[in-house]
Amino acid sequence: MKYYIENFGCQMNEHDVEKVNTLLHIAGFEQVRDAKGADVVIVNTCCIREKAEQKFYSLMGRLQGLKRKRGTLLGITGCIAQLEKEAILEKLPFIDFSLGPSSIHQVREAIASASRKTRFLDFSDNGCKASLYVRPQRGKEAIKAFVTIMKGCDNYCSYCIVPYVRGREKSRDSADILDEIRYLAGEGVKEVTLLGQNVNSYNRGREDLSFPELLSKVNDVDGLERIRFVTSHPRDLSRELIDCFGNLAKLCEHIHLPFQSGSDKVLKAMNRGYTAAEYVEKLDRLKNGCNNIAVTADCIVGFPGEDEKDFEATVELVKKVRFDGMFSFCFSPRKHTRASTLPGAVSKEVALRRLQELQALQKAITRERLKELEGKKVEVLAEGVSKNSEEELTGRTRTNKIVNFKAPRTLVRELVEVEIVKGFANSLRGAQVTREEVDNV
Ligand code: SF4
Repeated sequence: MKYYIENFGCQMNEHDVEKVNTLLHIAGFEQVRDAKGADVVIVNTCCIREKAEQKFYSLMGRLQGLKRKRGTLLGITGCIAQLEKEAILEKLPFIDFSLGPSSIHQVREAIASASRKTRFLDFSDNGCKASLYVRPQRGKEAIKAFVTIMKGCDNYCSYCIVPYVRGREKSRDSADILDEIRYLAGEGVKEVTLLGQNVNSYNRGREDLSFPELLSKVNDVDGLERIRFVTSHPRDLSRELIDCFGNLAKLCEHIHLPFQSGSDKVLKAMNRGYTAAEYVEKLDRLKNGCNNIAVTADCIVGFPGEDEKDFEATVELVKKVRFDGMFSFCFSPRKHTRASTLPGAVSKEVALRRLQELQALQKAITRERLKELEGKKVEVLAEGVSKNSEEELTGRTRTNKIVNFKAPRTLVRELVEVEIVKGFANSLRGAQVTREEVDNV
């Protein structure tokens, strides 16, 4: 059978798609690039914001036409499946299967059942362990890989739907994680990104390695060159984890640390568990231990009750920290969450105006920060040939910045020393150098 898969959402979702692909490839399915040529179409869904949900429903409308014409089997997986459960059938009565994120390991059974014209639904949390332990296969050419270390979240930030769709925190055994990473390194993978909704609380309450201890073990894996992780909660950023950045040679100097708002009043309403000053203090500690660490973040504007003074506090925080990059969004009320019932809604116009102001500010800062790197020598992991020029390679610095640079193709997969010659709005241009010493920025 041929299948087509469409993904919405975050890196966890991307990684779930890799798992589904693995399960289907093992079972002899062939992946195709066009839904029209598929016997089965799977849509992996995201419900973190209203926009992703709207896009999903409009795609399903189009796929219904395909089903009518060609008899294609239609299935959904992921967060909307989990959120809606059986109620999804009222909105999409034509789907053949629906699996929550903890049930994706059942995708083959779901397709088999749908082929027999029996609809397959599973939203239980029972399979969490099974889905957590599926190891995606990657081609021999893979340089980078995601590795799930935990799923779910116990934080219940008041705006966030994740705990309702991904469930409570569950950590994967460290021995299994390390075994997978050793295998990946043996296959030639140079960089791993450890994935979890809140990796800082990995193994909280369990008798196994803590997250800093896990990082230290991963650092010892032969053949591996780089380690990254996402996402961290500022409140759970421990001193031990901060110290890892200065002490572990393979841990890249980049952290994604969402701050969400610069206003203590809004942070409290968001149930984030820290103040803006505490957030900045943690960053100071990080920078003291690792002075060229890059910091990226997420921020929400237009949260219920956010007034101009609160927004100004966010702007001030962004000016003070000068993030290397930032994802910012207008508040999007989500079903089940506490924030969706809070008074003090901010109008769409005001939220949008604030978002535009913040994004313009960050755009200028990002450009400045990239310009600051001109003349520096950095280590780049060459990932492939640049999309813009056949003569250039593309890769990332340890601080996660994209660099395009002239170098022979034989250097793909290698760590290359590059001098930055130009900083643009979102990327860098460089030239290969032979000097041993790099600035690692
Ligand atoms: S820590 Fe992240 S995933 Fe967990 S509830 Fe808060 S925003 Fe959602």
